[in-house]
Amino acid sequence: MADISIKGLKKTYPGSTELATNNVSLDVAEGEFMVLLGPSGCGKTTLLRMVAGLDFPDEGSISIGGRDVTYLPPQDRNLSMVFQSYAVFPHRKVRTNIGFGLVMKKVPRDELEKKVAWAADLLQLTPYLDRYPAQLSGGQRQRVAVARAIVMDADVLLMDEPLSNLDALLRLDFRAELKKIVQQLGSTTLYVTHDQVEAMSLSDRVAVMKKGQIAQLGHPITVYEEPADRFVGGFIGSPPMNFLEGRVTQQGALEVAGQSTAAPEFLARSAARSGGLPVMVGIRAENIYLEDRGTPGTLDATVEVVEPLGHATLLTVDLGGQTIKVQVASTVRVSSGEKVGLRFDQAAIRFFDTETQLGLT
Ligand code: ATP
Repeated sequence: MADISIKGLKKTYPGSTELATNNVSLDVAEGEFMVLLGPSGCGKTTLLRMVAGLDFPDEGSISIGGRDVTYLPPQDRNLSMVFQSYAVFPHRKVRTNIGFGLVMKKVPRDELEKKVAWAADLLQLTPYLDRYPAQLSGGQRQRVAVARAIVMDADVLLMDEPLSNLDALLRLDFRAELKKIVQQLGSTTLYVTHDQVEAMSLSDRVAVMKKGQIAQLGHPITVYEEPADRFVGGFIGSPPMNFLEGRVTQQGALEVAGQSTAAPEFLARSAARSGGLPVMVGIRAENIYLEDRGTPGTLDATVEVVEPLGHATLLTVDLGGQTIKVQVASTVRVSSGEKVGLRFDQAAIRFFDTETQLGLT
């Protein structure tokens, strides 16, 4: 096990003026599962490739276990990786695929066999050891790639979208399996995904990236409940956080969707000083409750679309001309066109600056 320390990494690809990573610093503790999450093109893979030694930064440094590895080739970094493009060898049996790195490392035969058997057992590949990759399902092939990485006993495990080729059901299964395996191994893991559910479920901490920078770093629940800015709130969560234009009056009332409630103290104070404050109100679908229209303290709204999801029902609701999502229990009976009252869980409301888009606290 080893920690990873990334400092001020800048990288521009030849022929481009844009920074693929722009001054990224990140510390991953020993044994920590860190997920890099963000939309396509935000620089996740570039960052991972630099940690792997498959690419080098223009500026900045990377150390693993206190050793500067910034310009070392991959084989000198004591890490193993599962990359989307790192396909298994088609002409070698599963057994040989899994043991490949150990052969390269000249590990004695009996130790090699033990390790391959252990990894195959862990990833439920034992019945397939003598098959060729073409005789496996996509999920089994992906498990072979993971097995090949974990037998290496590396200090650091790097994974780039290792579940991407799996269908939804397999993905769900394998996600839990992967979590269990990494917990057992205790390796320091850096894992890239653009799937926010995967990031939430796997990570000890998640680094949400945007345009080559880290927009927020934290425990997945903190990032979910207290997004640092509007981008993070809109990226994490399905459905994404609702955003509504609002205003805090000089007298301390929060006006949203043509209705008025008390604003939290810190905003009321700030609005009293500035003579009123425009704000962006953020609230998640599951923090809004349905009540009878006209109930005191509720906002008048109209249900536009009802989507039963099985475990819950998702409503698209018109609130004074702004559209939001509301999640209710699947037992709630409501139809499109119905007029309802909405109550926001006051403690779950987040406020954002309308100009900088940053969270207000
Ligand atoms: P995705 O989820 O789509 O894989 P990503 O977050 O991993 O995206 P990167 O692949 O790191 O993003 O790309 C970051 C930026 O660098 C993008 O603007 C991309 O177009 C650019 N880029 C990536 N690889 C190269 C390359 N080999 N040559 C030139 N530009 C590149």
